[in-house]
Amino acid sequence: MKMLSIMQQEPTLSVRSVSEAGAGEILDRLDAAVWVFDIDNSQITFANPAALELWKATSAEQLYARDLKTDMTPTVAKRLKQYQNDFTQTDAAFTELWTIYPNGKPKSVMVVYRGYRLEDGRMAMQCEAIGDFDNQPDNLRSAEALLHTDVLITMFSKEGPPLYLNPAARNVFLAPIESFGSLFEKPSVFKEAIALVERGGENRLVSKLRTVLGNRWFDLSLKSCSDAVTGQPAILVTAIDVTELKEARDKARHLANRDQLTNLHNRSYLQGYLARLEEDGEALGSTIIFFDVDRFKLINDRYGHEAGDTVLIQIAERARAALRTQDMVARLGGDEFVVVIEGRCSRAALEKQIERLRSAISAPILHDKTRIDTTISVGVAGYTDETTRFTDVLRDADIALYASKQAGRDRITFFSTEMGAAALERDQTEIALKKAVQEHEFVLHYQPRLDIRSGKIVGAEGLVRWHRPGHGLVMPNAFISICEETGLIDELGKMVLQIGCAQAITWRRAGLELDLSLNVSPRQFADPGFLPLLKELAAQTDFPHGHIELEITENVLIGDHASIAEKLKAITAMGYRIAIDDFGTGYSNLSYISRFPLTCLKIDRSFVDQLPASGPVVQLILTLGQQIGARVVSEGVETQEQLDWLIEHNCEEAQGYLITRPLDVDGFEAFLQGTIPAGAP
Ligand code: C2E
Ligand code: MG
Ligand code: MG
Repeated sequence: MKMLSIMQQEPTLSVRSVSEAGAGEILDRLDAAVWVFDIDNSQITFANPAALELWKATSAEQLYARDLKTDMTPTVAKRLKQYQNDFTQTDAAFTELWTIYPNGKPKSVMVVYRGYRLEDGRMAMQCEAIGDFDNQPDNLRSAEALLHTDVLITMFSKEGPPLYLNPAARNVFLAPIESFGSLFEKPSVFKEAIALVERGGENRLVSKLRTVLGNRWFDLSLKSCSDAVTGQPAILVTAIDVTELKEARDKARHLANRDQLTNLHNRSYLQGYLARLEEDGEALGSTIIFFDVDRFKLINDRYGHEAGDTVLIQIAERARAALRTQDMVARLGGDEFVVVIEGRCSRAALEKQIERLRSAISAPILHDKTRIDTTISVGVAGYTDETTRFTDVLRDADIALYASKQAGRDRITFFSTEMGAAALERDQTEIALKKAVQEHEFVLHYQPRLDIRSGKIVGAEGLVRWHRPGHGLVMPNAFISICEETGLIDELGKMVLQIGCAQAITWRRAGLELDLSLNVSPRQFADPGFLPLLKELAAQTDFPHGHIELEITENVLIGDHASIAEKLKAITAMGYRIAIDDFGTGYSNLSYISRFPLTCLKIDRSFVDQLPASGPVVQLILTLGQQIGARVVSEGVETQEQLDWLIEHNCEEAQGYLITRPLDVDGFEAFLQGTIPAGAP
């Protein structure tokens, strides 16, 4: 059994009363075949003589006994169920092509269906054959195709209800359909689509339509045509549900453009965005704001990576909330973010906006009841007549950000050309440093450590200097941070340890009893090659076990305390001692200090400098030193008053210009022999 349906307007019937017997007579004499089909049981329950003839049945009983399910495909069965439903709800009528198989041979007839309530209350279908269908194979097959396709095919009058819906469309669209336009989620999309059809005769678009399953995406093909029945203008609409495809594609695009953690745009999207801005000629005057989280690594080390993630997510949310919707925010990766403010903007307005961003982000962040104080450093640069490429503007903003960091973090810096020159110089220094590491252009100078009680020099700190060709002697503050950032510190640090240990061995062979301390940078400490190097150095003949002290900063002690303690123990087991440099300025957790094998605390110069005002803090460190059995060295002692205070408060050692500045090897040895008076530069 096959059907082709044409929806039709319910004709207005004038009803005259006829007796039941009279009605039966009319049915018997009717040329048109009329029968009632029990949808639930796939049986005919009534047929007039014309219907018996059509079904090639010898008697009504014989026809009623037939099980029509055998000739029925599952699609047809499903559709019949749907009709049954429709009849229950509305007094609808459909005209359909029905291919029946009265004696095994197909016969197609046009049939009008209406609902018919059976005596037991169930809904059946009253069928009325209104004529043979032209049984041309092409007609039959095209009708068949229309019937079974999953593509939604409909024909609409220009403004009114649908003229035709194929079964797939009837299944999907919510009845009753007022007009084609009423299917659209957005009326504006419909208006635009229909305008294009009117202009060009056809249109293709992907749009969201209302369906029984909610609003879904369809690939729509619209063609203007005329209704073959009335000749009126109409629109033929073909629709394919592409929701899954579209969502998968949207998701893929979203993933490619977004940062997974914060859901902000990512680096590749930013690049595309800026490139488009330039292509459209809209870049001039636009501003790029580059910012990163101050000491983010420390947050990760101290509170764990989950806390680090929370901080980044919070920052992203706050940045988004503090900016206007048209401003673009992207996370470049790590703790680096970029904001693009499109179009010209006065410096004052810009400053205000960035300040608002900075203060919004800088509020404390809560992670698992822990309050994390975060600040950001910001660099700002703009597109100008000279700087027209985003790579250059980004570089300028990065340089300004670097300047913010150098100036003490938690601040906003606008790029200036002088800064550009400084950055260029920094780049050149970096190149020169690479060469310096290969060419061994570094030496150590030594600053004596005075034992306050005995007044004797008991040790020295080795401080690196760079003999930069054409620049004279360069101090570490000018290059250590660059080496840290570029990773050159691993090589440089190794060199410092080699030079220092060699010097210590020489002094020992010369019979000098000296402790030598050497600085180790955090990155160097974390380097997997660090321990093997120490082992190798300690294995040298005449290595002064117990007299080489490694100065690490407090920040090295933050993170996984157990593994740090283990590493420190391994180092001390090799015969090294451990000092904490610049003590009091870092973020170490005092409660852990006692668990580490520390032999020395070096009080930072900033405290010694403030004596006696800073007395309570210095006193605290002296007590802590006593508690954990570490010697305390005061750094940067410049005046006799400072030294007197330290003598009075039982500080063990002092180091500073008052005793002497750092000296080269010869100078230091001469100083030891007392040839240079203390305090001379
Ligand atoms: P630091 O380890 O705290 O070294 C002490 C710094 O204070 C030295 O600066 C020293 O010259 C300076 N200083 C000593 N006494 C006084 C004083 O009385 N007044 C003042 N104003 N300054 C004083 P320097 O040699 O310029 O070194 C600076 C920093 O560079 C060092 O601070 C250390 O952090 C780093 N550094 C030096 N050598 C190395 C090294 O070989 N490796 C690593 N990783 N860092 C090093
Ligand atoms: Mg030091
Ligand atoms: Mg220091």
